[in-house]
Amino acid sequence: MLNVPAQAFPAPGSQQRAALGGRSKVPLKPGRSLMDWTRLTKSGKDLAGLKGQLIKVTEEELAKHSKKDDCWICIRGLVYNITPYMEYHPGGEDELMRAAGRDGTDLFDQVHRWVNYESMLKECLVGRMTLKPVAVTTEACCAISEEKRLLNGMLPKIKVLDSSSKDLTPSYEWFQTDYLVTVVIYTKQKGINSEMVIVDHQDGKLRVDIILRNYSYLLHIELSYAVQEDIAVHISEKVGKVEVVLKKKDNIPWSKLGQPLESHNSFIRCTDRGLYYRKCKLISKTEVTHDTKLFCLMLPQSTHLQVPVGQHIFLKQIIAGTEIVKPYTPVSCSLKSDFKEPSHHDSTHLILMIKIYPNGLFTPELDHLQIGDCISVSNSEGSFKKSQVQTLEDLFLLAAGTGFTPMVKLLNYVLTNVCSLRIAKLLFFNKTEDDILWRSQLEELALQDKRFEVQFILSEPTKEWMGKQGKISSSLLSELVKRSKKDSKTLICVCGPALFTEQGIRFLQDLGYSKEEIHSFTA
Ligand code: FAD
Ligand code: NAP
Repeated sequence: MLNVPAQAFPAPGSQQRAALGGRSKVPLKPGRSLMDWTRLTKSGKDLAGLKGQLIKVTEEELAKHSKKDDCWICIRGLVYNITPYMEYHPGGEDELMRAAGRDGTDLFDQVHRWVNYESMLKECLVGRMTLKPVAVTTEACCAISEEKRLLNGMLPKIKVLDSSSKDLTPSYEWFQTDYLVTVVIYTKQKGINSEMVIVDHQDGKLRVDIILRNYSYLLHIELSYAVQEDIAVHISEKVGKVEVVLKKKDNIPWSKLGQPLESHNSFIRCTDRGLYYRKCKLISKTEVTHDTKLFCLMLPQSTHLQVPVGQHIFLKQIIAGTEIVKPYTPVSCSLKSDFKEPSHHDSTHLILMIKIYPNGLFTPELDHLQIGDCISVSNSEGSFKKSQVQTLEDLFLLAAGTGFTPMVKLLNYVLTNVCSLRIAKLLFFNKTEDDILWRSQLEELALQDKRFEVQFILSEPTKEWMGKQGKISSSLLSELVKRSKKDSKTLICVCGPALFTEQGIRFLQDLGYSKEEIHSFTA
């Protein structure tokens, strides 16, 4: 049976699980899979309940529809009649009811903002929220909530920025020679690096997204004339200048750079910027274990995208007529990779280590991709910061199954760049020996680098297994996670199924590790 992939709203009492990117699926009744939902949406049945009419909805009207048998929810300014969808939602009815009769955008964003509900719920569309004129206050605290409501589509579009962020807004200019057009962006910030600059050129449209802490500056222009596919990006780290050099296809003077497109020249929080996708070509697929494969994807020549350590991207596929999106964490091609000199391969390819679930919604489709096929890949996201490991002494990694993926680049990075590091210890939880990802590489690395240690812990070992067995527990962690010296600078990273991660964090806190010393990888 296929199921809708993700929950939209946190279930009652599941705030922490939501923060962990967890998924509390409820068993769905027979005939309530994603396939069944798609079939229903295509049946011509009036799911919105308005006989095909679209209406303008006031906040008062929205609030009236807050019961299970009459439930409307607003997501990004659009109002949906959710009642027919209730039984098909993997997170359950109670979860959806948390947003009944109100703006559910924030609740939706807290959990899985990448799920395309516009596509999934298009037949349930009732209409758009009416826009009330509002007096915008200049006080920052009000501005933030107003801005939030504005972005959720509940308010008319009024530019609300406080004075400090206005001062920091990057600016751009452009110039040309006979053969080249150069766009220069002044970020007004120092320490810009290649991972912060994402450039795409598709169908004559240039998109430059610069990530400055938690903010995104976007240059988005339909270029006046055609340019060649290979685009050069130069970054002046110290002065915070980014140059994007385009090669003209025809040697003619441009009177203007082009036409501004949606959100051009905007500077907003990253979480408020929609995900952008480009098509990447599958160039190889190799087995790692009986159910896990390495997918190597090639970025388009005109894309500049480097995924930072600890971040994930989203893959998007149309399954049963619905856009489905799932997160994956790029790895390097081996544990021996050197982070001092990122190779050319790293900036042109993405390597994903993905477990195929035979009953899963997304991964069997992914596994059907042939070499040469394309798949949509988003920009990266994630809360991990390299500054968390810069002066680190002890690093512990608690990984379960494919929760190993963020640990790969992290290990590459710390073992090469963090001089203060004394211990890097991986506790790797799997069901059986056959499930251990890159076992021989891990064992080789432990032999080569005295700072690195790996401990495999199996939950379903064979009788022959001589190593550790069991599940994550307080006693196991107190035995295996030990500081190299009193008060050593320590970080413990946790990644795996949501409940594994939750338990891991709880046990570590009970053992006296502070919140700052624990990082969980989540979406
Ligand atoms: P799903 O449809 O989600 O099913 C997975 C399993 O759950 C199957 O066994 C299925 O039978 C069972 N199931 C489905 N529905 C229900 C239900 N209602 N009740 C009970 N059981 C159910 N995965 C990787 O392999 N590699 C990565 O690098 C990676 N990175 C990630 C990064 C992040 C930040 C996050 C949050 C997740 C990451 N994942 C990664 C997991 C990935 O996003 C998908 O969740 C995974 O690939 C499963 O997708 P699926 O649609 O094939 O399976
Ligand atoms: P798996 O094979 O099912 O399990 C791996 C190990 O974890 C097993 O020993 C298993 O023990 C244990 N485990 C599973 N669920 C547990 C729980 N609730 N509590 C304690 N131990 C548990 O794992 P998998 O299929 O590879 O799944 C990996 C998970 O990691 C997925 O949920 C994926 O979404 C997540 N992931 C997250 C990220 C991220 O960045 N957030 C990245 C990659 C993967 P048992 O035998 O007892 O089940």
